[in-house]
Amino acid sequence: MINILDKQIADKIAAGEVIERPVSIIKELVENSIDAGADSIVIEIKKGGKAYIRVTDNGSGISWEDTKKAFLRHATSKISKVSDLDSIETLGFRGEALASIAAVTRTELLTKRREDKIGSRVIVHGGEIISNQPVGCPDGTTFIITDLFYNTPARLKFMKSDAAESSLIIDLVSQLALAYKNVSFRLINNGNVLFATSGDGNRLNIISRVFSNIDTKNLVSLKYESDGLSIEGYISTPAMSRTGKNGQIFFVNGRVVNSKVIEKGISEGYRERLFDGRHPVVFLFLNVNSSDLDVNIHPNKREVRFDHENEIEEFISTAVKNALGTKEAIVRAANIFKESIGESKTSQVKEEQVFIKNIMSTNRGPEKKLSPAIFDSEIIETPNEPKQITEIPEEIEEEKDFIHIQEPFIKPFEFDNLIVLGVLFNTYIMAVDEDNFYLFDQHAAHERIFYEKLISEYDREEKVSQPILMPILLNVSTSSRISEESWLAPLRNMGFVIDNFGQNSYRISEIPTFMGLQEGETFVKDFTDNLDKHQDLKNTVVIDKLIMKSCKSAVKAHDHLKDEEISALMQDLKTCINPFSCPHGRPTFIKLSNYEIERLFKRV
Ligand code: ADP
Ligand code: MG
Repeated sequence: MINILDKQIADKIAAGEVIERPVSIIKELVENSIDAGADSIVIEIKKGGKAYIRVTDNGSGISWEDTKKAFLRHATSKISKVSDLDSIETLGFRGEALASIAAVTRTELLTKRREDKIGSRVIVHGGEIISNQPVGCPDGTTFIITDLFYNTPARLKFMKSDAAESSLIIDLVSQLALAYKNVSFRLINNGNVLFATSGDGNRLNIISRVFSNIDTKNLVSLKYESDGLSIEGYISTPAMSRTGKNGQIFFVNGRVVNSKVIEKGISEGYRERLFDGRHPVVFLFLNVNSSDLDVNIHPNKREVRFDHENEIEEFISTAVKNALGTKEAIVRAANIFKESIGESKTSQVKEEQVFIKNIMSTNRGPEKKLSPAIFDSEIIETPNEPKQITEIPEEIEEEKDFIHIQEPFIKPFEFDNLIVLGVLFNTYIMAVDEDNFYLFDQHAAHERIFYEKLISEYDREEKVSQPILMPILLNVSTSSRISEESWLAPLRNMGFVIDNFGQNSYRISEIPTFMGLQEGETFVKDFTDNLDKHQDLKNTVVIDKLIMKSCKSAVKAHDHLKDEEISALMQDLKTCINPFSCPHGRPTFIKLSNYEIERLFKRV
């Protein structure tokens, strides 16, 4: 039953609701629908919501008596006394939204409770009830809002274009659909259904419905728990990345947030898995104890502050690394096929050839825009949908054609299951396990191995050096000589024994044990050639970069490897912290599944 809150409590919670733009109305109405227990919600807008907004739900409905009160200030059925504030389980409780919305619009309410024979139709103009009549209508509630700000024209001037207002709405509804995975959402814009979710609780289904331009085959599931923190969601494999972070959505305890801490955790998790300047697509749902969140943050603000930022960052990067360490996350050779989700199995497989080189270009190539922020209209046009939407909405239809996408489970990739078949073009090591065929790029793999060895030698306190018979002589420029302090130390740290040998010459008498003589010599020469006096060598990032540049000593494509060398390479790769990509972010190996091969031969 709707109560009018008394002054004492109303003053305590009053937020002075301001309806700023169409999206604020939709947020309030949809939150009311969720509070009313609806599991199906239709949102329809015209002209960015400025001309028309409809929200229809199959929730509890409002009784005839309550329809008279719903539009009053401080009218709510969700709390009645001050102590209720301690145990709020609804999204709303202030009883202000409907009053604020009704005050600046023409609003029509159609509602019926399941237990009632007949429903109600209330018309409110600028806050004033014009009529309230019994009417036959489906169970649930519909709000139709027209003529936004018709009585406060000054506010209309602050509206953005129709497209900009609709994109805010699409963003909001997309996020709500992800957050409330058991609620089916349907969003209609100017008569076209933009998306519809089934409410079946499967987030991958929701992503594929809402973000129709994301190939969910390039997403891997992520699930991780530790120390009272838990996270789940979907993240892109290195095969799918973007130039910006606009493909990243995070929810903390069910609410969409912006968070630099989460962003940092993600970047750390993807370190060396993507080229510099590329960002993954992620949908992450983090749950933390509410005591670990800064409670002073306003509920409508998207910023969130954690008490233990480092822990959160570390937690997220570990979760991401685990998810990327699974078989599912290995870059698919068939990426370039762009098979669409739900394409019928009998449909013709496009006759495209797999060029391994294209794998690289898929990673870098021009990308499609991420839908919500925001949809290209050509993606979302669905010409088969009826254009004419009746004023009084029909029953929410059941969505029948949802395709259930299997949600993969998380299991680390097993090198031990691989059987090496041989080498292709003196460059690609072929291997199989029970359901995939793999191609390893011998150069990228060796680069990765070499790089990790360098880093670990560099990080280790004790360096293991080996004396060499003929010392290596090194000549450097005068400026390098002057700044020798900065570059001698890192080299010595790696295990080189190096001393000045008069003027600009240096003598190297020992090299790190893991390097061959030739490798050691090439490495030092490249390292010193790449010295740039403007760079701060103490900065490990710079050292990383130098090391990367010096990785020329890795085996090349077309170098013929003996069987023993191949198995040593595979063994070494297996022990790498990140065996999946070279230090520059290129994949070290890619996969082609049994199913994909069958498709190539049109067997399925
Ligand atoms: P609040 O959500 O803070 O209670 P609102 O002004 O948003 O306040 O709504 C007032 C009341 O109207 C709600 O408490 C609820 O009883 C009723 N109501 C609003 N929308 C719906 C809906 N979609 N279904 C059922 N009841 C609703
Ligand atoms: Mg409300």
